[in-house]
Amino acid sequence: MKFTFDSYQELLELLDENGYKTADYHNWNQYDRCVILRHDIDTDLQKALEMAELEYQYGVKSTYFVLLTSNFYNLYSKRNKKIINEIQDMGHAVGLHFDEMEYPEDMGNADKIAEDIVKELKVLTEILGINIKVFSYHRPTKTILDADIKIQGVMNSYGNLFFKQFKYLSDSRMCWREPVLDIIHGGTYPQLQILTHPFWYHDEARSMKEVIYEFLSRANMERYDNLNDNFTNLRDVIDLEERL
Ligand SMILES: [Zn+2]
Repeated sequence: MKFTFDSYQELLELLDENGYKTADYHNWNQYDRCVILRHDIDTDLQKALEMAELEYQYGVKSTYFVLLTSNFYNLYSKRNKKIINEIQDMGHAVGLHFDEMEYPEDMGNADKIAEDIVKELKVLTEILGINIKVFSYHRPTKTILDADIKIQGVMNSYGNLFFKQFKYLSDSRMCWREPVLDIIHGGTYPQLQILTHPFWYHDEARSMKEVIYEFLSRANMERYDNLNDNFTNLRDVIDLEERL
């Protein structure tokens, strides 16, 4: 499968053709055959918005997991909150993407990690003004997966239910470890959880190197713009054309 928006739409069409209803982490048991579409936003909220629009136009709803501890985006900024609001307004859900590496002192201790997750859920709920009722892990260790952490009223997308009872398929590192389209077509599994990272998807297929290079180049422009918003007469010091 190519990493293009067209290919993603073909995946959605194939799910449709094979009788998979799109569900979320709370209503999935209403369906005999369902798929939970999930997106982890590791780096780039703008790409998430593009994916959300595609899904909205196609008529499906999915869940977008955002990091509170990201070094790439700040959820408290007006611009980013607006993006999250737009994603929600299209009917998609928002969940917490949790990175245990931010808590090295608690790693390996499931109770402590559960407390950290509860804390982040509370903060994210406060920032976004909506109840956050599901979480996923960013690059989880085997220990945290095996712990099957349960938090009252909140779904763990990596819990045994969604990670083992459901068939879990992911495009991590721009690579499907299993033939996702064949699995959908085969129809063996009544419940699917499909994780895609919008970061990899574009109008035209790109190599991993091209995607990362473009992201790095764009960062330069974004930093210039952000500095320009906070620095009087930036152009007198470094003109737009002089940027690296
Ligand atoms: Zn992640």
